[in-house]
Amino acid sequence: MSLGAAALSLTAHTRAQAAPGKKLGIALCGLGGYATGQLAPALRLTQHVELRGVVTGSKEKGQKWAKDFGFPEKNIYSYDTMARLADNPDIDIVYVVTPNALHPRDTIAAAWAGKHVISEKPMANNVPDCNAMMAACRANKVKLSIGYRLQFEPHYVELKRLAREKDFGGFTKMSGGLSFTMNRMQWRAQKALAGGGPLMDLGIYAVQAACMAAGLPAGVPKGDVPVAITARELPKQRPDFFRDVEETIEWTMEFPGGAKGEFSTSYNRGLDRFRAEGDKGWIDFAPAFQYGALKVATHQGPLALTVPSSQQAVQIDDFALCIKENRDTPVPGEMGRRDMVIVEAIYASAAQGGKRIEVKV
Ligand code: NAD
Repeated sequence: MSLGAAALSLTAHTRAQAAPGKKLGIALCGLGGYATGQLAPALRLTQHVELRGVVTGSKEKGQKWAKDFGFPEKNIYSYDTMARLADNPDIDIVYVVTPNALHPRDTIAAAWAGKHVISEKPMANNVPDCNAMMAACRANKVKLSIGYRLQFEPHYVELKRLAREKDFGGFTKMSGGLSFTMNRMQWRAQKALAGGGPLMDLGIYAVQAACMAAGLPAGVPKGDVPVAITARELPKQRPDFFRDVEETIEWTMEFPGGAKGEFSTSYNRGLDRFRAEGDKGWIDFAPAFQYGALKVATHQGPLALTVPSSQQAVQIDDFALCIKENRDTPVPGEMGRRDMVIVEAIYASAAQGGKRIEVKV
């Protein structure tokens, strides 16, 4: 299929999914920058779900959100009262947008209240916490998805198709990463809350893109992870700022079949790029990981697909449809856990002076 035909079939697919019916209710848990700047605007666009509640440490903030979005104040919860969500039929889904270390606490509380859950990325700070989140959702028969918005972005949908159908040959060489210069001290530079530094926050996007280009499916039966990781942490330029997290880290991913990816992430540089090469062609994303329009080139010329006005609205609507249609999400907890297995291997390799670590599910 040509690139243009792929774009057309994608549009048709999106339209076919827009079934009529009652909207589901969602509560945002954590009302910080991402919830305010991206998810709240997305929830004004979603067709299958609407914002009907919040979980917040600030009653006043909750009241303002209730007024802005027209939901009753009874739908304002604190982190300690999430169990009471069980009695609230207005809310079907809880979207966890707290700092990384709190994703397990909030996901597990929502699951035991009988609510479906989207947890932001990274899923948790370690693999055992991912396991606990998945177990709580299984025990309560609720669905769990991870906030990987780019899985639904049309250029990445095309990347996954190219990986599957091998128009450019199988992708054997990948590179890129995501970095920015952090100047404001925040939880992202504290290991206890963030789990690590830029790898947890930004590098995980490159891990995701690499797995898409390598054609790895979401689930994690054996073999669905890279074969091996080597990594090295670079010396810190600002050790006082990045006390217990890495400032910059580089890593190599080796995939089954011999494909290799070289990536980096930093809180003290600028970078936003992903490139995948096969023996018949290449694709290059720069910027690669933004909310808005990505710029994508191929050996055949630019790939300029029509993009939705909100990546997050598409992502959240798909999860709502998974619930309505009782189908599996294409972005399940298993995918978040797989990425955490990879992240742990990257840190383990860096801690052991760049030793090659074989990745085990
Ligand atoms: P933020 O600091 O702006 O907001 C965090 C929120 O959590 C705040 O409202 C804060 O009050 C609340 N909170 C609750 N308990 C807290 C505690 N103990 N310490 C600190 N804050 C606490 O962060 P953010 O940028 O909104 O990120 C939140 C989550 O969303 C992170 O996991 C991040 O990785 C993820 N995120 C995802 C994307 C994406 O594109 N998918 C983009 C940005 C952030």
